[in-house]
Amino acid sequence: MSIVLSVIGLTRYYGRIRAVDGMSFTVSRGSVFGLLGPNGSGKTTTLSMVMGSVIPQSGRFYWFGNELNSPSVYTKIGSLIEAPRFYPYLTLEQNLLIIAKIKSVGINDIRRVLKIVRLWDRRSSSYDTLSLGMKQRLGIAGALLGNPEVLVLDEPANALDPEGIADIRNIIREESSRGRTIIMASHILDEVEKVCSHVAIMKKGRIIADGPVKELLAEGDILIVSARELEKLQAVLEHSMLVTSVSRENDTLVLSLKKETSPKDINELAFHEGVILTRLEPKKKTLETQFLELVKQEPNNA
Ligand code: ATP
Repeated sequence: MSIVLSVIGLTRYYGRIRAVDGMSFTVSRGSVFGLLGPNGSGKTTTLSMVMGSVIPQSGRFYWFGNELNSPSVYTKIGSLIEAPRFYPYLTLEQNLLIIAKIKSVGINDIRRVLKIVRLWDRRSSSYDTLSLGMKQRLGIAGALLGNPEVLVLDEPANALDPEGIADIRNIIREESSRGRTIIMASHILDEVEKVCSHVAIMKKGRIIADGPVKELLAEGDILIVSARELEKLQAVLEHSMLVTSVSRENDTLVLSLKKETSPKDINELAFHEGVILTRLEPKKKTLETQFLELVKQEPNNA
């Protein structure tokens, strides 16, 4: 799979504040890549650097193997980093016409992008009559003008209600299914889990874990087990090499499995020790649980 963006050791401090420190990652064509991190972890600064609006102090990045200022690179990327800026009294069409002119895009494309974000029916409304979610969708429409290969979005669902979040999610999914590569920053774990194929988890300007969302989810599953001889089972498991933690919740044990452990291994161990399990229920850890664990485990380098 070809690489759309490669970032190597990107670093940006603001005075003594470490915004981004030695970030390295690659984004493959066709992926939905999520930069996930709590507030202030450096997501916006990272996206601003790769879009050329913030200058890195060190490090490099390449779009399609080229510098950002190479001819034709800019036209392949559509971005929405800051809150969308539009003229309040102009209509949606008039606002997009301005962007189309700046991007040297034919006016026919306005219809296409307004349909994608489901605002075609509102094309003659003035911008200030739109809801927050509609304004965000119009921002995405602006980024989609010119049909760029890559869409870069900073917190696209921020501050939206559940319906607004679902609208953005659907647009991202549809655009991804059309083959567009999407790079998005978010602190909403659930959103990343639902729409992203790949994720890089950030803490204080650094990546602390990254990879395919499915693989991250596959690591360290949780298993709920129960048995009549619960104390004995707990003791056996606590002394086994199969789990990273055992905690008791009423009449069940909640096990955090090591990466290589399967529920079958737990069943066999219990059986071998003469304990018959009355419950064996695997549960995938949500990305949120993992995210919180990772952020907690990582030593604080600030
Ligand atoms: P949020 O989700 O809150 O937008 P973020 O993950 O996008 O956060 P950044 O906005 O990149 O994080 O900020 C990273 C750090 O850099 C923060 O400590 C922030 O205060 C600081 N920072 C960002 N921009 C500037 C600036 N122009 N001047 C000074 N400090 C800045």
